[in-house]
This record gives sequence, structure tokens and C-alpha cells, in this order.
Amino acid sequence: MEGESLVLVYTGNGKGKTTAALGLALRQVGWDRKVLVIQFMKGKGNVHGERMAAERYLPLLEIEQHGRDEFVDLKNPAQLDVELARKALRRAEEALTSGEYGMVVLDEINVAMATGLVDPKEVLDLLDRRHKNTDVVLTGRYCPKEIEDRADMVSEVKEVKHHFRQGIPARKGIEY
Ligand code: ATP
Ligand code: MG
Repeated sequence: MEGESLVLVYTGNGKGKTTAALGLALRQVGWDRKVLVIQFMKGKGNVHGERMAAERYLPLLEIEQHGRDEFVDLKNPAQLDVELARKALRRAEEALTSGEYGMVVLDEINVAMATGLVDPKEVLDLLDRRHKNTDVVLTGRYCPKEIEDRADMVSEVKEVKHHFRQGIPARKGIEY
């Protein structure tokens, strides 16, 4: 916003990484800055409150899903998952270099890097080449060390408790 743009990371095993990134996105929108959220490994069939909120009420916030509706087999991703992740990365490149966005959120990209769908070196290169006014947020568990080293801010969300362990399934407005 003022001064140098930032690279911000939310990682760790607790709930709150994507929602923290969306909180930053909301702040940016309040200052009339455009935000693009690129969700890695998530299919368009995933209905999320944030996407509906953006479509209905927040013209400055764009949310795109890049992936299949099914879960990615993290130990053995399909070729299609690799291709979709590559496409998402190309989209990220376009958005980060264009100067059009105040912030670009690369949601779940840490998991995409940790599982080999995306090469962390390419992400580092993209961070270097981004427009000087564009802040970048990377979310997801297992953030690679080289990305943490490059980031200006890293927060690790730690699970203390999660209602899932009591058998409470994913809920509207809480999980999606
Ligand atoms: P949120 O989108 O709610 O901010 P997150 O981005 O931190 O969560 P992810 O690692 O992306 O979490 O996981 C996606 C889903 O898994 C979310 O719906 C979230 O509620 C759930 N989840 C996150 N952490 C845990 C956990 N420790 N135990 C069980 N489920 C979890
Ligand atoms: Mg998330």
C-alpha cells in the first residue's frame, strides 16, 4: 500500500489461514484496491461463501478456482492436477506482473509446492518479478523453507482444538 509491497505467509496445521488472507483482501478492497484470489487445487464446484460474497457484493474482489472438484492425492497427484496447477501459476504470473491488483492471494499454494505440483523456485522468481505495488499472500500448510525465508511476514496457525475432532462436519459460513 504505502512503501514496498509485502510477501505474507499463513501456514501451519490450524484453521484460519485462508480466512486470514481473505481478511487482508477485505481491507484492500476497503481502500479501493483490486484483489485476485487464486485458489490452487480447488474445483469450481466447491461453493464457498467468500466467492458468493465477492460475486454479489464486492466487485473489486475476484476469486478463481483452479483444480478438480475431487481431492488431490497428495502423495501421488494426477497429471491433470499438475496441469491445472501450472495454469494457476501462469495466471498468478499474469496478475502479479500486470500492476492491476493491489493484492494477489495464492491460496493453498504452499501445499501445491510441498507436493511437487508447483516448483518453489518458480514461485520465488515470480515474487521477484512482481509489480512493485502488489502485495502477495501465500497460504497453506507445509510452507517450504525457502519461501518462508523470502517472505516479509510468516504466521503459523497452530491447532489447539478443532470441532472436526468432535465429529462436527464442515459448515456453511464456517468452513465454506
Ligand atoms: P479456513 O479456510 O477456515 O481459514 P484453513 O485455510 O486454515 O481454514 P486448510 O488447511 O486450507 O485450512 O483446510 C481446509 C479445511 O480444513 C477448512 O475447511 C478447515 O476448517 C479445515 N481444517 C483446517 N484446519 C483443520 C484441523 N486442524 N482439523 C480439521 N480440519 C481443519
Ligand atoms: Mg485454506
